[in-house]
Parts: sequence; C-alpha cells; structure tokens
Amino acid sequence: MMSLHALFGRHSADLKASRWDNGRFVTDCLICGREMIKHPAGTWQIATRR
Ligand SMILES: [Zn+2]
Repeated sequence: MMSLHALFGRHSADLKASRWDNGRFVTDCLICGREMIKHPAGTWQIATRR
C-alpha cells in the first residue's frame, strides 16, 4: 500500500537499535521497518541492496 511515508521518504532511523556492521551503521526505519545504513561521515539512508 502507498503511504505518505513512502511517498515522501521521511524515514526515521531506530538509533537505539543501530549496530556496527562491516564498516557502517545499520538499523531499521522506525516507521516502515526498512533497513537503513549510515556510513561514518554520512547520513542515514534506506539500504538499496543487501
Ligand atoms: Zn521508513
């Protein structure tokens, strides 16, 4: 289903669950549950592939 969240892409990283994995941080979006990643000098973004 198409939600406003999906349309606008404002994802919210679950910082409490973030973990270090293979050179970047990994967690899930609190709203939609999709996997998010962040490189040390970057910003949180939805993982495009595993
Ligand atoms: Zn999301």
